[in-house]
Amino acid sequence: MRPAVSISPLTSVTILRAHSVAEVQLFLILTPCPACGMVAQRPRGGVVAPNANHDDFRLYAACARCLRDYPSVFVIDPPPRRGPGGGTMAINPTERPSEIIDLAGWITLYRHITERVWREMDKHTARRLAWEAGLCLDEALKFYLARENFPPESAFFSSRSLVTFRANRAQFDRRIVLHHRSQAPQLTDVETRMDGEHERSWWRFWQKHVEPRARL
Ligand SMILES: [Zn+2]
Repeated sequence: MRPAVSISPLTSVTILRAHSVAEVQLFLILTPCPACGMVAQRPRGGVVAPNANHDDFRLYAACARCLRDYPSVFVIDPPPRRGPGGGTMAINPTERPSEIIDLAGWITLYRHITERVWREMDKHTARRLAWEAGLCLDEALKFYLARENFPPESAFFSSRSLVTFRANRAQFDRRIVLHHRSQAPQLTDVETRMDGEHERSWWRFWQKHVEPRARL
């Protein structure tokens, strides 16, 4: 069952599986702090280096308002890339759909980022945001089965998402999603890379341009 949640037998910490730091960042944008209810959670520190398990790249998060740790730990798989090309923003390099953000979540992110594009005065930033909005639709499209125009109900991880789907079925028609996807710009590898900057830099890009304003 999704979301894929497992309990580590050693630490009793809930583990959520993500495909990239960017996917975690987007999840946090959608997820209010369980303690104070504000959308103000951030990655806490960097990705922790692997220990006994070579795939065990972990990321922690905490609320910027009430400072409480997010109760789950994110395991990043595949491991984050470093070095040349490591600065490009890939949400999910696999063909598998996200295990932490459901189809309704990706559509919400697409709309949210697209609204930012309309308000963005800087052309370069607007173009990059529009490209990133398109990446969210790529993730949405991974939930559809071949030759089906409507997603399976398993694409929705919560009863709230499922209610949204049932009430707005037409918006989840694959042909509509593909139409919006075709409107998003395609950027070159060079354009998507943030030259000479560490990957943490694009966390800040997300925080600055995408994340809802926390009322601090
Ligand atoms: Zn909080």
